[in-house]
Amino acid sequence: MSEQKIGRVVVLLGAPGAGKGTQAAILSERLGLAHVATGDLFRAAVRDKTPLGVIAKGYMDRGELVPDQVTIDMLLERLGSPDAAGGILLDGFPRNTVQAEVLDMALADRGASVEAAPYIEVPEAELVARLGGRWICRAAGHPYHEVTKPPVKPGVCDIDGSELYQRDDDKPATVQARLRQQLGALEQVVGYYRNAGVLKTVDGSRGIDQVSSDLLSVLSAR
Ligand code: AMP
Repeated sequence: MSEQKIGRVVVLLGAPGAGKGTQAAILSERLGLAHVATGDLFRAAVRDKTPLGVIAKGYMDRGELVPDQVTIDMLLERLGSPDAAGGILLDGFPRNTVQAEVLDMALADRGASVEAAPYIEVPEAELVARLGGRWICRAAGHPYHEVTKPPVKPGVCDIDGSELYQRDDDKPATVQARLRQQLGALEQVVGYYRNAGVLKTVDGSRGIDQVSSDLLSVLSAR
């Protein structure tokens, strides 16, 4: 079977709370890449109560990773969408070495490879503080933060006016469990792309604009 070709592939890396979602939205627009976020795909499936959503919900509520097979099948289906042909920015995938290896194989089948893996690095203590204050909008998942990025009107999205809510997996009891499991896996993925020579580390503890500009400069320096 011949697979659809894919252009430029960028893998954005960072722990939960590192600002990946915010930066991915900025970068995908500036670089003209389709933003593919596995967390968003899972949340949409849960909201629509699809069979995939029913499987994913329990793992997500517990702050655990959804099993690889389910996640990989979903990602491969997304890679087949027409907008992926112009290039993609991956956000939240891969989350472990198995997923990274499968991605490399799938891209090779489509005449592509991971061009760069920018890593937004943030110290663990800061991640815990950030995640506790995160709120997102019901309509499109636009992210806000009580301290660093509050909405103009409390509880309402600046962009689309929908209600803001706190994700179950951003509630304090879940934050620690989620970080503990996911930081270990992230380290594997960071090592994988460092070995592949495509890792680009950016200091994520600074302001949103500063981080965006650092990311754009490492991505344009090809
Ligand atoms: P995120 O929005 O990227 O933080 O993802 C939210 C949740 O979706 C995660 O805590 C996992 O339960 C699930 N998830 C997202 N991406 C993946 C992935 N690549 N592998 C496994 N589970 C994932």
